[in-house]
Amino acid sequence: MKFNNPFTEQGKWFKGNIHTHTKNSDGMFSPDEIVKIYRENSYDFLFLTDHNKITEFKSKSKGFLTINGIEFNKDSFHILGLNIEQLFSTENLYPQQIINKINEIGGFAVICHPYWSAITSKEITFLSGFIGIEIFNNTCEKGKGKGYSTVHYDEVLQNGLNLFGFAVDDCHSKEDILGGFIMVKAKSLDEKEICNSIKNGLFYSSTGIIIKNLKIEDNTIKISFSPSIIVDFISYGPYGTRIYNKGKEFDYVEYKIKGNEKYIRIEITDKENKKGWTNPIFL
Ligand SMILES: [Zn+2]
Ligand SMILES: [Zn+2]
Repeated sequence: MKFNNPFTEQGKWFKGNIHTHTKNSDGMFSPDEIVKIYRENSYDFLFLTDHNKITEFKSKSKGFLTINGIEFNKDSFHILGLNIEQLFSTENLYPQQIINKINEIGGFAVICHPYWSAITSKEITFLSGFIGIEIFNNTCEKGKGKGYSTVHYDEVLQNGLNLFGFAVDDCHSKEDILGGFIMVKAKSLDEKEICNSIKNGLFYSSTGIIIKNLKIEDNTIKISFSPSIIVDFISYGPYGTRIYNKGKEFDYVEYKIKGNEKYIRIEITDKENKKGWTNPIFL
């Protein structure tokens, strides 16, 4: 079994958004304003990711962390380069070369909003060196109804890629802020610790569901969460299962692993259609 379980790791939970625009590209808010909004809404960290530009900004607020990033736009591909300090030109570079360059300069890469971008799971499968894809993008959902890329995600997982799934805001304005976030388990609220935890998959994604505990014992997944009405154990092809009880709320379920699922990722939905997603457990 291959799964870094954030619930069995030492540390604290930190809430953050990894995809944020400011006035330095096409966002509505200055870095100061956007940090203030997230801080006042109980977030702990924010990656500032303007288009093809570094927004140099260090949070002055105690207990709030900002980390540099860039959203590189290259034809249909939008790629987040996270934790990078150095801008480079994407002219004459293919998406794979952009990802390689992000890694070379010490960052890590996430592929943005496949559904909105109209890139296929096949195109994603041919790439390597990135840690995950956006499975929920708030601006794509609010603007075009194309926020969810979970089918793309399952297709690339089925193709054998070991990737994490991220929920993000990609916020530009008041309309698309405070929607998709990740909860990261880390030793402390520090750039290195937060980035290491993300790179190791020690997080879950959410649009409002809080996952309280997840353990795997006796070949059984045991998960508890804020009151919800659907829990999907999503696996390869026809495997996996849905747990639903006529719209009644519940906050704990168990799933006995059969052995043929190849991978299991858990998607939780509450009655307001808020979602929570674990990273995949590979068998
Ligand atoms: Zn984009
Ligand atoms: Zn963006």
